[in-house]
Amino acid sequence: MRFLIEVTKQQSMRRIILRRIFLTAALALLTNLPLFAMNVELRPEKVIPGDVFLLRVQPDKSAAGNTPQAEFAGRKIGFYQDADNHFIALVPVDIDTSPGKYPVTIKAGDEEKISHVNVGPHKFPTKKITLPGEKVILSPEDLQRAGKEAELLKNILSQTTSPEWDGRFKAPMDTKVSETFGVKRIMNGKKTSVHGGLDYKGQMGAPVKAVNAGTVVLRDEFFFGGNTLVIDHGMGLFSVYMHLSEFKVSKDEKISKGHVIGLVGMTGRATGPHLHFGFNLQGVRVNPASLFKLKL
Ligand SMILES: [Zn+2]
Repeated sequence: MRFLIEVTKQQSMRRIILRRIFLTAALALLTNLPLFAMNVELRPEKVIPGDVFLLRVQPDKSAAGNTPQAEFAGRKIGFYQDADNHFIALVPVDIDTSPGKYPVTIKAGDEEKISHVNVGPHKFPTKKITLPGEKVILSPEDLQRAGKEAELLKNILSQTTSPEWDGRFKAPMDTKVSETFGVKRIMNGKKTSVHGGLDYKGQMGAPVKAVNAGTVVLRDEFFFGGNTLVIDHGMGLFSVYMHLSEFKVSKDEKISKGHVIGLVGMTGRATGPHLHFGFNLQGVRVNPASLFKLKL
C-alpha cells in the first residue's frame, strides 16, 4: 500500500513537471508570434516635399519603456508617449527633399522594423512680382532689424516641449487660400523666397483662431511679418500668424483650439489685409494643408 502511494506521488510530480515544461514552451512560442511583435503605423505612406507624416509605434512587451529610435532622411525622429503607451512622432519632410522611396528603420529594444515613405515629385508654382527698386532694397537699419527678428524667431522655433495639441489641427480661418505653400517668388527677375505658409483672404478685423491648443510663445511686431503671434503646440511644432491688426491674447497664455487670438490686418510687409499662416515642425517649414489632413 505504502509503495503504491509513493508511485502515484511520483507520477503526479512527473505530470506537474511535464505540464510546466509544456506551458513554458507554449509561452515562448506565443511571444514570438506577430501578436506580440512591434507594431508600426506610418501614414500617409505617400507624401510630397513639405508634408508631414505620422509614425505610431507600439513596441513589443519585452521592449516596454524603451523609446524607439528612428531616422528619416538623416534626421533623428523624436517620439512622445501617448495615453495608450504608444509612441507617436510627427515627421517633417523638408521642401528640398529629393523624390524617392525612403526606408524608416524603427528600433525598440532588440526589435527592428523597416517602413517606407514615398516622397513624390512635385513642382511648386512660381509667382513673378515686379516692384520699383526702392521697395525691394532695404536700408541697412531695416536689414539689421529683420535679421535680428529672424534670429529671435529661429531660437523660439528650436524649442521642444511636451505635446499640448488636442486632436486634429483646424484651419485658422474659413476663408479661401489666396496663396499656397511652396510658391517660388521671383522679384524683378530674381528668385527671392519660397512661400513658407498659406495666405488666407480676410477682411480687415476678421477673427483669426488658434489651430489647436498650445502656449503663446511670441507676440511681437516684426519688420516683415508685422504683428506676429507664435503658438507652441509641443514636440517642436509651432503655428505662426502674421500681419495681424490686433492681438487678442498675451504672451505665455495657454489657449484652446478655436480660441480667437487676433484680428486680420496688413501690418508689416503686406500689400493688403490677409493672414499669413505657417507651421514650423522641428525647425522645418511644413505645408499646413498636409497637417490639417492628418488624423491625430
Ligand atoms: Zn504669406
